[in-house]
Amino acid sequence: MPGNDAEKTAKIQVWWDMKDCPIPEGYDARRVRPSIERAFKEIGYTGPVSITAYGDQTQTPCHVLRGLSSTGVAVAHTKSDTTRSVMYRDMVEWRGQNPPPATIMIISDQVEGDFSWDLARLQQRTSYDLFTAYSMNPCNDLILVYYGNWRWEQLLEEGGAQLVAGGSSSAMFYCKTCNFDCQSLKKFTKHLSSYKHGMEEAIDPPDTLLCVTKTWARNYPATPEHATAKIHVLWDMNDCPIPEGFDARLVRPSIERTFKEIGYSGPVSITAFADQKQTPIHHLLALSSTGVDFSHTLSWVHYSRMITEFEKWTKNNPPPASIMIISDEVASSKYRSTLICRKLQESNYKCFLAYSVRPFEMPVLVTSAEWLWESLLAVSETKRHILHKCSSESERVVSSTGMFCCTLCLCDCKTLDDFNKHLASEDHTEEENRMTSHSQSFPGRRRQFKISNYYDEASFFLLNSDIDSQNVNTCPKYKYVSFHITYML
Ligand SMILES: [Zn+2]
Ligand SMILES: [Zn+2]
Repeated sequence: MPGNDAEKTAKIQVWWDMKDCPIPEGYDARRVRPSIERAFKEIGYTGPVSITAYGDQTQTPCHVLRGLSSTGVAVAHTKSDTTRSVMYRDMVEWRGQNPPPATIMIISDQVEGDFSWDLARLQQRTSYDLFTAYSMNPCNDLILVYYGNWRWEQLLEEGGAQLVAGGSSSAMFYCKTCNFDCQSLKKFTKHLSSYKHGMEEAIDPPDTLLCVTKTWARNYPATPEHATAKIHVLWDMNDCPIPEGFDARLVRPSIERTFKEIGYSGPVSITAFADQKQTPIHHLLALSSTGVDFSHTLSWVHYSRMITEFEKWTKNNPPPASIMIISDEVASSKYRSTLICRKLQESNYKCFLAYSVRPFEMPVLVTSAEWLWESLLAVSETKRHILHKCSSESERVVSSTGMFCCTLCLCDCKTLDDFNKHLASEDHTEEENRMTSHSQSFPGRRRQFKISNYYDEASFFLLNSDIDSQNVNTCPKYKYVSFHITYML
């Protein structure tokens, strides 16, 4: 978890896009560093700060360059349209050389998009305390967990007038186009006006941000701490149904075996989500006989109930532990997987995916393995004997308060009989009708979000593109705000 002592005294690395977040007219460039340092100190981060300022430095006045370098701010020249990708590349390189604990800060208006997608994936594998600052466009991409999102001008204003004493001469000047560096401003400006530099700029390719995580493999063997840790499976029976003629009793052993093959042998719990009134009784019987739990949902709350269950489970089962999602929609939708993605950045959980159809785009979730649902099940057909063996009664460690849960009424039943009785009851029907009419009272809305604890049946409201997350984001405690989003169709 973030914010422990080691992280608070660890080094802080800052990448600053000077074009997006410029030094205001008349502002002393020497105040930039103390302002940033002060902002961090206010929230308890006291480690040494390194800052690199990126931009077209031929446009930056000499006194600004001098002011920055005299306070130890490194200056990097980039062609304006490559600043974002150069900053990103430098950050990735820095991460490779500086393992956590450490803090990173990005000052830019262009974090949203492929930048945040790739960074969210990097953070799931290796987590740093992440801060951002923006001038015009705060990054509203909820997949990224950051601990602070400052408004640049405000950060500078609140920095006070105190200047750092003396001139640190260690600050460097870099030309990112030519791979040139020097320690003297005079040499730097001479370089930028040279013919050779002009030629290099002319042939420099246009901006392309390289998403480094796209080349990551998806199969990683279990680490010792995860090898015997608990595994919880959230199975979307709509997206990934039991194939025609397939013995439902083999679902659990198939999943267990697949995990064992890649070194995960911890106890497996499985919850199956669907409108269970539609599930054939022989499937209910067969699955429950192998210790699979059921959640009854309706289509428009299907995914939100899965995510709620995910949150509940991770709350009760701290890492190291693993989570498996069997769902096309969660695997392919960035929105559906937002909360899982955030949890993976914060905590040491492993994530697995299975789907009927391979997602068109790489999921934002960083997984330790992925499978096609049917091929995962087909394994069991050919190796039935082994499967039965690895799913002996003694291994069925399923700790659940109720095998059958109606997620509409939040009612747990211990037996299938009780569950069926509940689903046929007046109370349940009333609840279903209430939810149906609720969903119909928002015609034409494709997505509804509900922020607040799900069980707190209070305020529904729509979260649209002009989300007022600014206030939340600038709060240093943003991270600790209980942040539940429920997506509905
Ligand atoms: Zn150059
Ligand atoms: Zn119910």
